[in-house]
Amino acid sequence: MGTNVNDQVEAADCLASVLPLETNKQNAPDFNGSDDDAPRWAQTAAQRRLHAHWNDERSAVIDAMLNGPLALTKRAVRLEGCCSHPSAVLKKNGTIGLVLYACRDRMCPRCQVARGQRASRRIESIVLAMNAPRKIELTVKHRVAPLAEQADRLYRCFKELRRSKVWRRYCKGGVAVFEITINPKDRLWHPHLHIVFDGEFFPQKLLAEEWHRITTDSTYAYIKPVPDRKRAAKYLGDYLAKPCSFDEMSASEIREFATALHGRRVVMTFGTSHAANPDPKPEPYMSAEDESLISLHRLTAAAERGHERARTAVDLLRSMSPVWCSALGFLPFRSEQPAPIVTLDDQKFIAEVCVEVREADAAAHASLRSDDGCCIRTVDDAAQLALADFSQPPPQSQAYR
Ligand SMILES: [Zn+2]
Repeated sequence: MGTNVNDQVEAADCLASVLPLETNKQNAPDFNGSDDDAPRWAQTAAQRRLHAHWNDERSAVIDAMLNGPLALTKRAVRLEGCCSHPSAVLKKNGTIGLVLYACRDRMCPRCQVARGQRASRRIESIVLAMNAPRKIELTVKHRVAPLAEQADRLYRCFKELRRSKVWRRYCKGGVAVFEITINPKDRLWHPHLHIVFDGEFFPQKLLAEEWHRITTDSTYAYIKPVPDRKRAAKYLGDYLAKPCSFDEMSASEIREFATALHGRRVVMTFGTSHAANPDPKPEPYMSAEDESLISLHRLTAAAERGHERARTAVDLLRSMSPVWCSALGFLPFRSEQPAPIVTLDDQKFIAEVCVEVREADAAAHASLRSDDGCCIRTVDDAAQLALADFSQPPPQSQAYR
């Protein structure tokens, strides 16, 4: 019997996908042993914690996109997997880093907020460098038309406005943020732009007239004074970093939103600010110099099984930050006491334990193979083995939690 590489890979994948679900269910402090309140898709403990703030929005988005065309279904699958298996990495400077493997889709509430916060920090530095910032809101008239078409029109009109003589006379450069809301009464889309520009006093009447000339039907173009630069930066950042109310949209509205926004720039810079890019492409999850240590669920599973060094490592990692705590599948600490400082030596110890557990796990996987080196266990065998390991927590487990 020859070695079938595909079978080995499949069996290993299956084992990997069973392990986190079984172990993390028991890890989660609010798990009451019943599946009645569980979502329709499986979530790891890390996902439960990391997406906890946006459960309703996330559920609405995934459900709507799963029932959409293939392109949206594929994105929904990535959203489902967002942050499912965070990993620890060893950085070049000897510290331990956390890799969440987030989906980075604009429809994922957690990823959207994270990206917005990053962009708003960059926008702040652009706005702080401005001489006399002012803010504008530009809107096109409500109409019954597909959202993508309305968004295209708004972008086209804004481009034409920036080329106009009037605009160039008063505005040197600036940043624009695209936002879409929906009218709760008539369910019409409301695409609009929030802009902070650097320049001279721009008479409101002139801007409204020019905007009407370009759009032919819209006069909503408001200029508001900016009390200080910090607040102007916050004005734009707030729109970027707030999650959309997807739980208040219908499934078809979510699908239309997802399609219309996909691949579209929501932050634009122009004129003197053009060179700055506040919303660059996301960087790789880890740099080439980082050494991948272990998927965190394997470390917590080892701790659950009674591996003393793994328990110490998990406890140290939990006190690193609330995000680490969530990534490990635990509720963040709410202690009055400040968290203990995790020293460089502690981090060296954690890295050693991670490698130790990883190698022990690899040895356990290898034991699934038959004598002739071929993976003969079926997928069910692997699942049974995983269940057998974790369905009965060891006696010490309660005290550990
Ligand atoms: Zn995500």
